[in-house]
Amino acid sequence: MERMTIQTATKQYPLFLGEGMIESLPQLLAELGFSSGTKLLIVTDETIEKLYLSELLVSLRRSYDVYTHIIPSGEAAKSFEHYYACQTAALEYRLDRHSLIIAFGGGVVGDLAGFVAATFMRGISYIQVPTTLLAHDSAVGGKVAINHPLGKNMIGAFHQPEAVIYDIQFLQSLPERELRSGFAEVVKHALIGDRAFYEWLRNNIHSLEDIKREKLRYCIRKGIEVKARIVLEDEKETGVRAHLNFGHTLAHAIESELGYGATTHGDAVALGMLFAVFVSERVYGLSFAGEHFTKWFQSYGFPVLLPKQLDPKQLLQKMKGDKKARTGNVRMVLLKGIGNVQVETIDDEQLLSLLYEFSQR
Ligand code: NAD
Ligand code: MG
Repeated sequence: MERMTIQTATKQYPLFLGEGMIESLPQLLAELGFSSGTKLLIVTDETIEKLYLSELLVSLRRSYDVYTHIIPSGEAAKSFEHYYACQTAALEYRLDRHSLIIAFGGGVVGDLAGFVAATFMRGISYIQVPTTLLAHDSAVGGKVAINHPLGKNMIGAFHQPEAVIYDIQFLQSLPERELRSGFAEVVKHALIGDRAFYEWLRNNIHSLEDIKREKLRYCIRKGIEVKARIVLEDEKETGVRAHLNFGHTLAHAIESELGYGATTHGDAVALGMLFAVFVSERVYGLSFAGEHFTKWFQSYGFPVLLPKQLDPKQLLQKMKGDKKARTGNVRMVLLKGIGNVQVETIDDEQLLSLLYEFSQR
């Protein structure tokens, strides 16, 4: 088990990365200061419930007073309804300010349970126990949120966990599409922040098959290092944290246009990154060999062409609703080179023509 430290302007907390850590969970919680008898509310989804919840309960019930709240699997659970149901459960189980919420699952569980923890009695402690590769991103940094019908992650808070306990054994059951989805964020972290890691990926991960055991762990560690470095500099996204949005301006528009759940977040981000590289080439007049990137992404099974039913005009409208947008202009995270990131305002006309070109390439 390795231990990393996540440091933000407001808080420092440990991240444990290893394999087969369930048994030692009570001990880790005790070290974090949660005395035996503390009330724990585990929030998890139906998939994780079936696969792993009983194991976790056996381990935790030795020392703690444990309750569970199960949400449906999938993005739709990041809703007001499920947020409300979670708060109701916390009240019915009589959680108090000393209680602890355990977010046991992927980014959906982490974001929802984290937001419940951020607001229950004006904020109680929570820890992240991630079960997806994507959660190397979502479990670190303290952004928690639910969706509003008018926009994703629009209702939320910054609330850092007490710890992240990342047991990669859980990832063994991850379906291929979810592994690929999480891997898109790994690639993003390499591209925006770590040239050596980018080269390692090119040399070591030739297909999704390669992402297991030590290599999986390395991907998680390196991805977290980039994320943690950015969060340290800019916890509340007033500056450099926006770099984490590389690929996301178009990705969010695609997800919203296709309907949430129709594509994975990572597949949308992969396409968004290809578009950002395409735009970077045009804006800076440099060549990253976008074609090279396209082939590389294809080797992992990422979609590299915009789905036919997507209309560039509609995409542009959605991109204008992005949280980075200022005075109505789209701001995109671009690359001048690997690890060399720039945020640029792109006017509508240029963006629309680039979208058309990209969709017809
Ligand atoms: P998810 O939590 O929905 O998990 C994906 C699917 O895999 C679900 O169906 C889930 O039930 C299943 N699953 C989870 N773990 C499994 C396992 N070990 N074995 C088998 N199946 C498993 O989605 P995600 O991709 O982990 O996260 C996506 C969410 O994260 C989005 O809502 C996104 O907005 C959010 N996110 C948040 C941040 C942040 O900083 N807070 C960053 C990135 C993404
Ligand atoms: Mg993302």
